Amino acid sequence: MSVSDKIKKSIEGSSWIRKMFEEGANLSRIHGAENVFDFTIGNPSVEPPAAFREELLKIANHPQPGMHRYMNNAGYEETRSAVAEILSETSAVPVGPEHVVMTCGAGGGLNVVLKTILNPGEEVLILAPFFVEYKSYVDNHGGTTTVVWTDRETFQLDLAAIDAAIGPLTRAIIVNSPNNPTGAIYPESDLRILGDLLRRKEKELGRTIFLISDEPYARIRYDDSPVPSVFNFVTNSVVVTSHSKDLALPGERIGYLAANPAMNQVGKFMEGAVFCNRVLGFCNAPALVQRLVAKLQRESVDIQKYREKRDLLYEHLTALGFRMAKPGGAFYLFPLSPIEDDIEFVRRAQRYNLLLVPGTGFGAPGYFRIAYCIDEGIIRRSLPAWEKLAREFF
Ligand code: PLP
Repeated sequence: MSVSDKIKKSIEGSSWIRKMFEEGANLSRIHGAENVFDFTIGNPSVEPPAAFREELLKIANHPQPGMHRYMNNAGYEETRSAVAEILSETSAVPVGPEHVVMTCGAGGGLNVVLKTILNPGEEVLILAPFFVEYKSYVDNHGGTTTVVWTDRETFQLDLAAIDAAIGPLTRAIIVNSPNNPTGAIYPESDLRILGDLLRRKEKELGRTIFLISDEPYARIRYDDSPVPSVFNFVTNSVVVTSHSKDLALPGERIGYLAANPAMNQVGKFMEGAVFCNRVLGFCNAPALVQRLVAKLQRESVDIQKYREKRDLLYEHLTALGFRMAKPGGAFYLFPLSPIEDDIEFVRRAQRYNLLLVPGTGFGAPGYFRIAYCIDEGIIRRSLPAWEKLAREFF
């Protein structure tokens, strides 16, 4: 036996994105990469902002003694202060460096938070369609997940369904706005109701229920107003994010978690989170890139480019007959599959070298996901293939 039964099962159930990506590599070998339209992976094709390279050169040219050593498991004070400053500016609460732990991406941060708060058998609500790793992350720390659907057309919060789903074992709810895979952004008005709802449930059930806000796309949004801060509405809330998308640094594994300073026993939570960052084996977020992002908190990749790609595909596909909500952020479209079987639909798309991910991979059969964080040239070259595909169904 080389793999446990549990992991074998998890791999089978969670590998849609990877499966499609590998099939894409296969098709590229056969047809040539320029003839394959790979919309499977949320791996930004843009380069990090120029300031990243400038800061990197500064550090390389002026190394400080000890800059590669172990550090406080929470991360450098300088980096946490820079993060806290931005969080204080974008919310109505005064966040300090003591409320921040630098993490190995949002994935690392989510695992740290879940390990910190979950007792065995406790429940975490996740909202469909969802980022598929949530199930594994919760399971990593002995929790169970309960899926609550968002509205099936707009993908906005279904607050009544959340209210009904919270029970005596619920310890947390994970929200993700702007959302992967739908691009939905939750407005202030709904977050306010959610905050009231969670406080009422906490009172009724006599337990803390955390809101974990997973926000790696917070700066990738298409209207001018910022994504509302959950800190303003939900007392027991934690923000988890990364610079994988906003600075296009997914390979560098850099992100952070930040606790609402108003959280119950926030000091104890932070002590737990710092400990968990260590014992999960992360120890601390990578030293060099912590120094860099301390200087880049006000930088972002060019959102205008993403907006153009969103508009190009949205306009083209809706004109062809595909139905979808227009996303307010992130870099995904999540249309309805024109046939009920989304896996069959994705197979039919593959015949035109269009690589997509079935909604089933996000707990949402009957839809499919398009990741448009790829070169505009590829998107433009793919348009005739979309037309041929649409002719089969509309
Ligand atoms: N959460 C969501 C919703 C994501 O889409 C991703 C990555 O695609 C992550 C978390 C993990 O990102 P990171 O690279 O920061 O670990």
